[in-house]
Amino acid sequence: MSNLKENELEYPLGERLPQRGSVLEVAPGVHWVRMALPFALDHINLWLLRDRLDGRDGWTIVDCGIANDATRDAWETVFASQLQGLPVLRVIVTHMHPDHIGLAHWLVDRWSTREHECRLWISATDWNAARMATLQTIGHGGDSAARFFASHGLTDPASLDKVRARSNYYASMVPKVPTSFRRLMEGQRVRIGAGDWRCIAGFGHAPEHIALYSEAIGVLISGDMLLPRISTNVSVYDIEPEGNPLPLYLASIERFTALPADTLVLPSHGRPFRGIARRVAQLHEHHDERLAEVLAACSASPSHATELLPLMFKRTLDLHQTTFALGEAVAHLHALWLGGRLARRRGDDGVWRFTPAAA
Ligand SMILES: [Zn+2]
Repeated sequence: MSNLKENELEYPLGERLPQRGSVLEVAPGVHWVRMALPFALDHINLWLLRDRLDGRDGWTIVDCGIANDATRDAWETVFASQLQGLPVLRVIVTHMHPDHIGLAHWLVDRWSTREHECRLWISATDWNAARMATLQTIGHGGDSAARFFASHGLTDPASLDKVRARSNYYASMVPKVPTSFRRLMEGQRVRIGAGDWRCIAGFGHAPEHIALYSEAIGVLISGDMLLPRISTNVSVYDIEPEGNPLPLYLASIERFTALPADTLVLPSHGRPFRGIARRVAQLHEHHDERLAEVLAACSASPSHATELLPLMFKRTLDLHQTTFALGEAVAHLHALWLGGRLARRRGDDGVWRFTPAAA
């Protein structure tokens, strides 16, 4: 997405970022922590909220970072210098992706005492999905992912071998998930410190993503559902091969436009911003353009997802990025297929090709 679009939003903190091991207060009682990630997407934003729970003063953490020594060390630096001597009381996780839930098990162990459990709060769907992915009883790599990608035209043997070899990819970043949790659901109000935060469930990016909105201070913790610069990944995965996540995602972000125009959005990647309505409109435009391109290509000749990648992603992709991009391409094809615009047929080579639906 172009910088022009990024510049249509307002960034009240300018270029300010929290230093490593430090925090930056972005709203009353809401502190921004930024952790490094070893990917092309090189950081994640986490949040520390001043809290009071069961009569104890302390902090609630929102999202955790992936499980590695660098992130644990950065947290220890924050704990030693930024908590005003108070404990962490609970850990809220927006969704099951590794950069968000990776260290949840370590954080709840680190802060639980005999008298007080430091509990994980998360949607039931994402807790279950994370538990299963960590136990490797479902896809997220390995043979089943390789078969899925091959059915969408990724037939290069070297790439498929690499996908097969990646069977413990999730567990490498999320070695454990807490064995108990407290359930977050759409519409639920969670009192954090002096005020209530409302849970807003969102779909299409993760199974049941929870964003948190505080009317009193005008802040939305958007997780990955609304990001200012990059578009949120919306993918079809091997475990749900006929999935249709794109309409779910677009309907979910539409609901954020009901929030006040001056709401400060705290995204998991990029800078805090204002301009929800503009950003949601940009994302609709972005996906409408991709859908039109995909429809035009399939109208010109029957197409599979892999051959649409150069059209949809105008940069060179490594294998990791290719698998993400392929999931996104299938998401756009499925939105058109399940929306009645395209038909699909499986060739003798086992590959799904999409053509315009008969009128
Ligand atoms: Zn995510």
